[in-house]
Amino acid sequence: MTQVIDQYATWYEATASRLDSAAPLSAILKADVCVVGGGLAGLTTCLELSRRGLKVVLLEAQLIASGASGRNGGFVSNGFALGMDDVVKKVGIDAARALHALSCDGTEYVRAEIASGDASIKMGDGWMVAVRHDDQGGLKKYGANLQRDYSEDLQHLSVQETRVRLASQRYFESLYFPKAFHIHPLRYCLLIAAKARAAGAQIFENSAVKFVEKIGSEFLVKTDSWQVTARHVVHCVSSTGRNVHKASGRAVLPVATYVAVTEPLQQTSINTAAAISDTRRAGDYYRLIDDGRILWGGRISTKINRPSHLAERMKGDMVATYPALGKPRIDYAWAGLMGYAIHKMPLIGRDAEGQWFGTAFGGHGLNTTAMAGLILARAIAEGDDAYRRFVPFAPQWAFGQLGRLGVQGSYWLMQIKDKRDESRLFSGQ
Ligand SMILES: Cc1cc2nc3c(=O)[nH]c(=O)nc-3n(C[C@H](O)[C@H](O)[C@H](O)COP(=O)(O)OP(=O)(O)OC[C@H]3O[C@@H](n4cnc5c(N)ncnc54)[C@H](O)[C@@H]3O)c2cc1C
Repeated sequence: MTQVIDQYATWYEATASRLDSAAPLSAILKADVCVVGGGLAGLTTCLELSRRGLKVVLLEAQLIASGASGRNGGFVSNGFALGMDDVVKKVGIDAARALHALSCDGTEYVRAEIASGDASIKMGDGWMVAVRHDDQGGLKKYGANLQRDYSEDLQHLSVQETRVRLASQRYFESLYFPKAFHIHPLRYCLLIAAKARAAGAQIFENSAVKFVEKIGSEFLVKTDSWQVTARHVVHCVSSTGRNVHKASGRAVLPVATYVAVTEPLQQTSINTAAAISDTRRAGDYYRLIDDGRILWGGRISTKINRPSHLAERMKGDMVATYPALGKPRIDYAWAGLMGYAIHKMPLIGRDAEGQWFGTAFGGHGLNTTAMAGLILARAIAEGDDAYRRFVPFAPQWAFGQLGRLGVQGSYWLMQIKDKRDESRLFSGQ
């Protein structure tokens, strides 16, 4: 069943212009490809297939980008939700380099589509990742490894350099990635949808897919009353609607994370236009947005809290880091659902029946959904086999409800470990 999350409460919805809601599917259609899900994975796949001359129908259960794609932190950077060290452990350095290069293609894709579409979607350059305790040079070494193994463009900033930009005693050293950037994600989704329509795609909102059946060499994709027949089907439903394609759906765990946006502020605590996050196992991510507002994200859970309760908690996190902010009013607060596989890598591939899937991008989906869209479109339209790079990260059952409890438990454990690291610091250990 599709889950509806406080759809219009985001700052992004308040500052973007949706077209009038597209009509639901109300005909029997035939297409080359039917894409299920109108988040960035589905939209990018749809655009890239349309650009390659295929007839594409996209079916979205609610409004396009009403899921994570239109309500996220907006950071665009290379890599995956799974750290590259862990990718190397699984596949070795050569395959890890190839995967990292694909993730960079995703970053560059977003940059290029914005540049050729609407430059105002890009809201700032750079990404700072800071440590909140003295990690004995660990972050510096991590950065050096990224430079050595993946030619990643980055600078190491000392404690003093970090605190000039982030006026908080909580922060120590940081890494600065000048080529990362941050965007208005909803406007970006709407841009990709508009480009897809211009390239010939048909996009239907309020058209939840109920099931898919293979008939001969074609797929029958059914909503409540109507259907699309297509040679290919691509499942991009992330953490909701996971019953439609069980092979990938049962491998995805829904994980909620939260965002708050302050009133416009005049402040001197955050002195950088870059996006910022910390290295805690469940850390904060935030940035300055229009009119001096702070967009602050953080926390994870497997259950979505009510936003009113949420606003105070997010404010608490923000002010604990920057007491000089005083008591900023929170104008917007919302939740979003990410999809995670057990191994934290995206699920991209094709099942035994021939159905394609691109899902489970976790908290690192802006570059990787673009990457997946390119990979899937090239596979379907051109027979390209780059998707096989993800075979080592095939769908594995995520243990259903037990998996959700596991995620919640490990988050609490992460919080305890993070607090322990920081309290060691403050007690001088
Ligand atoms: C609060 C938050 C902050 C984040 N911050 C960042 C960040 O700063 N940087 C970053 O890289 N990533 C971030 N992410 C992650 C990123 O947003 C996601 O990984 C990415 O948007 C996933 O895209 P998607 O297309 O797979 O899923 P979604 O955007 O969730 O789209 C899936 C779509 O499928 C539709 N659907 C479901 N079932 C059906 C059905 N039966 N029929 C038709 N349609 C269906 C849904 O309605 C939905 O629109 C964040 C996520 C959240 C929630």
